[in-house]
Amino acid sequence: MIGSARRTPPAAASSPTEVSFARKVELNAIPDPGGVLVVAEASKQIGFTVRRVYFLTDLDPGSSRGRHGHRRLRQCFVCLRGSVTIAVTKGGERAEFHLNRFDEALQVDAGCWRELYDLSADALIMVLASDEYDELDYIRDYDAFCAWEREEERRVPYIDLRRYTDLMEGNLEGAVQDVLASGVFIGGNAVRQFEQAFARYCESSSAVGVGNGLDALSLLLRAKGIGAGDEVIVPAHTFVATALAVDAVGATPVLVDVDEGSALIDAELIGGAITDRTKAIIPVHLYGHPADMDAIKAEIGDRDIMILEDAAQAHGARYKGRRCGSLGDAAAFSFYPTKNLGALGDAGAITAGNADLAEQVRLIGNYGSREKYLHELPGVNSRLDPLNAKVLLAKLRYIDDWNAVRRKLADLYMSGLDGIDGLKLPRVHSWAEPVWHVFPVRVEQGRDDLLKHLASRGIGSNIHYPTPVHRQPCYQGRWAGEFPNADRLGRTLLSLPLDAVLSEREVCQVIAAVREFFGASGRGI
Ligand SMILES: *Cc1c(COP(=O)(O)O)cnc(C)c1O
Repeated sequence: MIGSARRTPPAAASSPTEVSFARKVELNAIPDPGGVLVVAEASKQIGFTVRRVYFLTDLDPGSSRGRHGHRRLRQCFVCLRGSVTIAVTKGGERAEFHLNRFDEALQVDAGCWRELYDLSADALIMVLASDEYDELDYIRDYDAFCAWEREEERRVPYIDLRRYTDLMEGNLEGAVQDVLASGVFIGGNAVRQFEQAFARYCESSSAVGVGNGLDALSLLLRAKGIGAGDEVIVPAHTFVATALAVDAVGATPVLVDVDEGSALIDAELIGGAITDRTKAIIPVHLYGHPADMDAIKAEIGDRDIMILEDAAQAHGARYKGRRCGSLGDAAAFSFYPTKNLGALGDAGAITAGNADLAEQVRLIGNYGSREKYLHELPGVNSRLDPLNAKVLLAKLRYIDDWNAVRRKLADLYMSGLDGIDGLKLPRVHSWAEPVWHVFPVRVEQGRDDLLKHLASRGIGSNIHYPTPVHRQPCYQGRWAGEFPNADRLGRTLLSLPLDAVLSEREVCQVIAAVREFFGASGRGI
């Protein structure tokens, strides 16, 4: 590097108490006659779970320390004695924080460059860190740090679930630790608490936790006595689980094509699919957009046909003001990790307006047993475990905020991608307050080329779903009918990154890359 213009961190613009990537927080100093007690908790003043503590002492006043960046590590600095200035740099923005109080901490996010200087000779600095020592997490050269930042900024992951852990500021780790400390790993209070909270959230009277979304659907069908010889109407375009749940109870899935603009079941086609054997219909609130429940009810009329919502993608969505999960006879939810409300592994729940139906699901999912070692019916094992109940309970406090972020990002896409020839935006119906589990666009020509173009720009995308239900190998030859809209959607759909942990900057990058592909002018908004 001799002779090269080596980059140095920029001069600090200011000495604030807070920037987006670092902030001072007050610790709780509680005076009592014997002295002062200072408290910092993981989910409050520290902002993450501490896995390492170290001290800096006997410092050379003239020296500076800590000239490096961390990719993942988060830190919290407390100057217990003396004073220090800590400069934190991210994205070319540098902020300086002066610390000289034992009851004040500086939180520094992951992905920052930091330097400590102006150390007083008596300085004693405590550092709380989110991880144990990992040399690979350090970047010790500012040029290399800037190069890493540029690469990070270029990339837009389709989804990065690790971001939720950071966002929840220790509450996720706290939930896991609570379960470890309780020693209860099946059933118990945590599950009941979550079920009650989730029923309330869905504006339904009961909820029962189960093993996953597929089980939620099939347990409800079985609890209703639906099985061999019965027919259940499902949309031709959905995640395959909707149809598989019907097969799981021995009934026959009857496919109905979807509306191309919204990819939701086409209510007008339902009447033609109903027979004497039809026992249920499963509308899917696909992509977080509610299906037209009133139109479906009108098609059913006064026939005894159960309406079972597949709400696996619609936690918090509203139809004419009411929450999904309270719109039919019962609803099935999945908490697969990438869903709007996601667990740490497989998990699901049902909601039902009828408490007997909910209890029947609980009975079947618990080996057909209410009383230990007494089995009323040949049940299965499909339960929500307390670990995920605690995790979901912690996440439930954030879900409305997260859905609001999803809505804001969807609005950005809607305005940033409006009016491009060859690109169709998702239709939002007047009855809907969607929660944008996915942001699906339709590309008539060259969908796969757009996907490759985005990948070459470091942008993740996905197809939900490339193969419609009737073309799945497991369903070869099952249905005689044609499902042209489902077929077309499989060829044209592309899901752009949209998640509560994505930033507006990232969505603008996607918009610019999509516009670039179509040769559309106007780089973003
Ligand atoms: C995810 C999903 C399911 C299945 O949920 P799992 O928890 O993965 O079993 C069912 N239906 C739809 C529409 C889904 O998106």
